Amino acid sequence: MTQMMNIPFLDLKGINHEYADQLKAACSRVIDSGWYLMGRELEQFEAAFAEYCGSRHAIGVANGLDALTLILRAWKEQGKLQAGDEVIVQSNTFIATISAILENDLAPILVDVDPATHNLDLEAVERAISEKTRVILPVHLYGQLSPMPQIMALAHKHGLLVLEDAAQAHGAELAGRKAGNWGDAAAFSFYPGKNLGALGDGGAITTNDAELAILVRALGNYGSRIKYQHDYQGVNSRLDEIQAAMLGVKLAYLDSDTARRRSVARYYGEHIRHPGITLPSVTTASAHVWHLYVISCPWRDRLKAHLAERGIQCLVHYPLAITEQRAYSDLARTSKASRAPLHDSILSLPIYPTLGEEQQQHIVTAINQFTAH
Ligand SMILES: *Cc1c(COP(=O)(O)O)cnc(C)c1O
Repeated sequence: MTQMMNIPFLDLKGINHEYADQLKAACSRVIDSGWYLMGRELEQFEAAFAEYCGSRHAIGVANGLDALTLILRAWKEQGKLQAGDEVIVQSNTFIATISAILENDLAPILVDVDPATHNLDLEAVERAISEKTRVILPVHLYGQLSPMPQIMALAHKHGLLVLEDAAQAHGAELAGRKAGNWGDAAAFSFYPGKNLGALGDGGAITTNDAELAILVRALGNYGSRIKYQHDYQGVNSRLDEIQAAMLGVKLAYLDSDTARRRSVARYYGEHIRHPGITLPSVTTASAHVWHLYVISCPWRDRLKAHLAERGIQCLVHYPLAITEQRAYSDLARTSKASRAPLHDSILSLPIYPTLGEEQQQHIVTAINQFTAH
């Protein structure tokens, strides 16, 4: 047997350690500045992130959930949405996508994903469009861009808004356009484990719509554009100076980190050989930034235990359909998704820029040695 190794699902300490000197210097700079909110660090990061995504505007907010919530909230403020309007969204996503819709008194209409890519199934979207549909909300799940050219065409045909949940897809690109620059607006998360992760919470909205940019910024700052003048009933959702500074350091390395994720994915793709295991399907190389590497196997739980015995930690994204969650079981009434069996077969392998060659070999060997019986 291979020597015992311990491979965590994610190694945040190792990832941030690579940039520790620059992160500490940036942190000191903010401490010494005496200015901790809505300052130069935020302004610089927003400009850099907008440029990176290719969009005209980026607005820092407190987290990814707020980014989603504030965009929908702004469209309500503009009269483009009303309570009860329908938002078409996939059934396999992180819960925040759904919370943002419900928070705005809108109705999430759950549809199936394409079983190959785990992104929105176009035919399922088309079938779900009703009189009350106002928004299509594609989630670029696991880091792979949704079929955006087709989604945008469908949205134009039916006069719908498109909100991208790009929380897992910083830098994913298709036809020369990055995640966050396809829809009417996009939401990013900088949760520490995301491909561009802060050292705490953070999020951003990107858009090419100048009016929307001004509105979401105001809504995240107590509805205020001028201090103590409140044009809207807003909330407190700001990306603080320390996190903006941390993100500014790490944004410069995002592309090289993505290249390292792609090299892990390539290694898995070339070396995992197992008749009972299906590897993730990739539309084009640039469209996937490998936030997660999700395989599928009919004996998933046994495979997970087999890998755990060999020191390899894997997770499941996500173990339950939204409608199977107690708090959201009501959504089953309006759901158009057939309960996809994929929740029982998917398994996420460790993938991150600092995952070493020996670790990758160990993982592949352990998988190839798996016997279901
Ligand atoms: C992480 C994530 C979010 C929420 O981001 P937070 O910063 O944790 O609020 C939303 N949608 C998806 C798909 C995510 O993965």
